[in-house]
Amino acid sequence: MHDLVIENALIFDGTGGPPRHADIAIDHDRVTDVGPGLGVSRERIDAEGLALAPGIIDSHTHFDAQITWDPMVTPSPEHGVTTVLIGNCGFTIAPCKPEHRDVTMRNLVRVEGMSLKAMQQGIDWQFETFADYMALLERRGVGPNVGAFVGHSSIRTYVMGEDAPLRAATATEIDAMRRLVEDAIDAGAVGFATSTSPSHNGADGNPMPSRLADENELRTLVSVLGNRNKGAFMLTKGASTPVPWLETLAADTGRPVIVAALLHNSTDPDKVFEDLDGIEAARSRGNQMWGQVSCCPLSTEFTLRAPYPFEGIAAWKPAMQADSEESYKALLADLSFRDAIRTELTRPAVVRLFNNEWEKLSVIGTVLAKNQGIENCTLAELAQDRHTDPLDFLLDLALEENLDTTFLSILLNSDEDAVARLLTHSCSSIALSDAGAHLTFFCDAGFGLHLLGHWVRDKQIMPMEQAIHRLTGQPAAIYGIRDRGQIKAGAYADLLLFDPDTVGRSPARRTFDLPGGERRLTTDALGVHGVWVNGTRIVGQTDTQNGPTLPGVILRSYDS
Ligand SMILES: [Zn+2]
Repeated sequence: MHDLVIENALIFDGTGGPPRHADIAIDHDRVTDVGPGLGVSRERIDAEGLALAPGIIDSHTHFDAQITWDPMVTPSPEHGVTTVLIGNCGFTIAPCKPEHRDVTMRNLVRVEGMSLKAMQQGIDWQFETFADYMALLERRGVGPNVGAFVGHSSIRTYVMGEDAPLRAATATEIDAMRRLVEDAIDAGAVGFATSTSPSHNGADGNPMPSRLADENELRTLVSVLGNRNKGAFMLTKGASTPVPWLETLAADTGRPVIVAALLHNSTDPDKVFEDLDGIEAARSRGNQMWGQVSCCPLSTEFTLRAPYPFEGIAAWKPAMQADSEESYKALLADLSFRDAIRTELTRPAVVRLFNNEWEKLSVIGTVLAKNQGIENCTLAELAQDRHTDPLDFLLDLALEENLDTTFLSILLNSDEDAVARLLTHSCSSIALSDAGAHLTFFCDAGFGLHLLGHWVRDKQIMPMEQAIHRLTGQPAAIYGIRDRGQIKAGAYADLLLFDPDTVGRSPARRTFDLPGGERRLTTDALGVHGVWVNGTRIVGQTDTQNGPTLPGVILRSYDS
């Protein structure tokens, strides 16, 4: 007798092939049969009218800190995500010596917009090495399955301490870092992750440590993957590491190279396609490369207390280094500071979040009653009405409201025709939810449901089976995640049961559920009828099952 049979669902098996009406049987943690007439079972679900897919694999999350206090990593599983990869961009919390905990958290405050108070109250620091961290997660249990990258910025801080964000490493230091990467790969890391992006800044306004790595350091650390013949290399790319250079790493190691964050920028509209074409050319030469793209517009809510969109502007740096609120405010009022930003914004940049597009920046929350009338106006409109400069208007308003005015900035990826081309490109991997990070700015944990609802049902940019493949079977193949991402006899029972007519995600809403009552944005799933991880239902009604409350596993071995 089977544990569970789901009957009459339209099954999308994750391979990209056409769907079919069938039943599936689940026993313990696996799918054991697919077809008609599967016999008796302890529990039956009639799924007529619904679609059944493998659970979504979210390959770009930042749950490294959150997972130590919230092993369910909400809200991702509600949105059909059954496997998450953490440690992207190299912003991990392991390995970490006790004396580096403070700077590690302060780095995450700036680079990933995480609350310092929530991290101070929430992170369980009972680890030092990467292997200890994996063991801690395993001991505490996890909701979805978790694969972890070893992060460059963390190993750099571990070896170089306070010099990590300041200088190049010595040969001895590079050697010590190489050994840490080896240890982590041996302990089951899914790969090695880094960032060379100028938008990634950390504590005290310094660059994130990985940005100080020279070519030799990066090449040495990535070479571990080739030597072990294991693991993927992911990076968030800045101008110093162009695609042709990254291809040499793929060629030298024979390992997959995943290039993030390929977001469309309407002020430099061809750039992202040039990167993808470079990746396609690399692929034709036998090198495994993928461009990570997003199906969500990159928009962020922010105040001048943490103005993430501006922090990639070089002329903004003095503001990140201000040692008190008074000196910060004085700087914001300073004409030469403002002029330097204006000048820089008129110059083209390879990678920059905010590109002088004031019509895409609006006021969404004011503090003073007299300013309420300008809510939901764009800075472009406001500046034009008042015959003033938009940057002056924004900074004067924020100063008048003690830095607490809330702005909304639509930064990148908002041109839907261009985004559709990215999503359907043969070398793109759809990810970049950044779930677990930027918690007060945006929440794209429901990116998969957004793809299925907005892009497939409403815009019809690709067939449903293709979209599901890109969320399941494709990432499983890229990272070598074994027996997941497909519905077939023998695969783990990671499943998403949904209604194709209503699937989607709600608009973001505020909640105050972080440690210390700190605020974040979250979204609700639409059209989801059930989610299973390793055969245990974690979303939807459960009748007879008595599975573990945290059914996920820590992934430690991958297909090469
Ligand atoms: Zn990231």
